[in-house]
Amino acid sequence: MTKIHFRVGALQTNCFLIADDETREAALIDPGGGTKTISAAIRDKGIQLKYILFTHGHDDHTGAAISLAKEFDVPVYLHPADRSIGRKLSLLYSEGIDIKPLADGDKLYLGSTPIDVLHTPGHSGGSCVFITGKDMFSGDTLFAGSCGRVDFPGGDARQMRASLKRLYDLPGDYNVYPGHMDFTTLERERETNFYMEEFRT
Ligand SMILES: [Zn+2]
Ligand SMILES: [Zn+2]
Repeated sequence: MTKIHFRVGALQTNCFLIADDETREAALIDPGGGTKTISAAIRDKGIQLKYILFTHGHDDHTGAAISLAKEFDVPVYLHPADRSIGRKLSLLYSEGIDIKPLADGDKLYLGSTPIDVLHTPGHSGGSCVFITGKDMFSGDTLFAGSCGRVDFPGGDARQMRASLKRLYDLPGDYNVYPGHMDFTTLERERETNFYMEEFRT
């Protein structure tokens, strides 16, 4: 899997382009901005963009999706619970972009490489985490040393706790690529993240 990282927009959102090395099929995760840079990278690398994935519907994760979905003629995937939480999302709907629903347990593919979808509400009702191989794209659910805010519309502290517990309980370790700030590993978060402290025995 080829992985290209962009920091985009005013909130420095982590956006990722991941491509299957065999087929060059790619997914773009959370294009909150940086349209030109991302578009150039897709073209320069000879990558075939297949779809755009949203870890959730906030504007800082979706802002460039409208232009990129149009340019590459691809669908976007979003959990239905986040359908109405972003201003940029309403633009996607009014522009007639193909918006497909994500659900817990879904498997999307790039070539023969699966991407697993975990529904992890808390930061927003439709927040999701994507896992492929040893890589976890955790959106604004799990950050290095913290977790996403729960005081936005659709946020829920109880759900966040359950979602963090679910990630904590996953077997094995993962490279964790959050929606903002530094990258980390699941094991490091299990050991040091304040919001996972209560799960340690
Ligand atoms: Zn957010
Ligand atoms: Zn965010």
